[in-house]
Amino acid sequence: MSSPSYPALSYELYPPRNAEAEESLWTTIRRLEVTRPDFVSVTYGAAGSNRETAIALLRRLLTETTLKPLAHLTCIGSSRADLTAIVERLIGGGVRGILALRGDAPDDGDAPDGHAPEGDVAHADALVRLIREVEGQRTAQLAAGRVSVGVAAYATRHPASPSMEQDVEVLLAKEAAGADFAITQVFFRPSDYAGLVRRARRAGVTMPIIPGVMPMTSTRRLKKLSGLAGIDVDQGLWDRLEGARSDEERRRIGVAATVELARVALEDGAPGIHLYTFNEHAAALDVLDALDLERPPQAGLAASL
Ligand code: FAD
Repeated sequence: MSSPSYPALSYELYPPRNAEAEESLWTTIRRLEVTRPDFVSVTYGAAGSNRETAIALLRRLLTETTLKPLAHLTCIGSSRADLTAIVERLIGGGVRGILALRGDAPDDGDAPDGHAPEGDVAHADALVRLIREVEGQRTAQLAAGRVSVGVAAYATRHPASPSMEQDVEVLLAKEAAGADFAITQVFFRPSDYAGLVRRARRAGVTMPIIPGVMPMTSTRRLKKLSGLAGIDVDQGLWDRLEGARSDEERRRIGVAATVELARVALEDGAPGIHLYTFNEHAAALDVLDALDLERPPQAGLAASL
């Protein structure tokens, strides 16, 4: 008998920068854990700037919680040998999900032109191949299960791409290299996700594409992120958030807009929702409650027996 399928649920976390941030992150983790997400992802600084805190967080997630971590890994500015070593550490440490990314060069890199060196692995598709090579050599880990490899996708054009068509060709190359699924960059218009999926399927991409949704409750964060990712925030939403008479009202408007974005994506066939939490549980849980996402009665092996 086939079991019913439920939309996937996942959260993005970033490694804490200090002890205080770590304490508050763990409150967030415990509050999110009870919602039984399919995985939680842990970001990784470009060129491995926070490598040890990321690995420490992944280790604690694996040993102290019921959560399955998805480790982000960036290749920009790293040597092939370094990347091989980190992938070996992740797999050897029990991580079974890696999000293969290029990352962005920091402006204050130590190369003479002010940019960080590109590294030996220039793009995410090559990183996917490297992960699969390392995995293939670790036969001792085979019984512990195959590594699931995710990649980034863009519902609006990647800022360095000449076109959205190139973005889906790149996505196809990542799948051909061995990626199992993609998670989108933030997007702010409900139709953007369906547009990406349509272009991707037409180009031959078959892997699941999970919409990455950011709770749109803070104009400061929206401004920062839309600048970083090169995506314009919907002007109508921006005006409504700016015009809110209280934090409470702004929060209500932002949660409602986020729920609408996620609901349209799910109606358009999204396999689930990935929530960018910024290490705060309150807005993510507000979105989840209002979305009323159907979840399996109990996660884990016992449920499937
Ligand atoms: P790529 O797929 O390599 O694409 C980068 C650019 O190069 C694109 O313009 C693409 O069109 C072009 N390109 C790709 N492949 C080729 C090729 N073979 N030949 C020529 N051109 C090519 N950043 C972090 O630093 N840390 C994180 O933890 C992190 N997490 C993220 C999570 C998600 C879900 C997403 C969507 C993004 C994340 N990012 C993170 C940001 C990401 O690193 C940037 O968006 C970066 O600019 C591109 O990464 P990518 O993996 O898509 O790169």
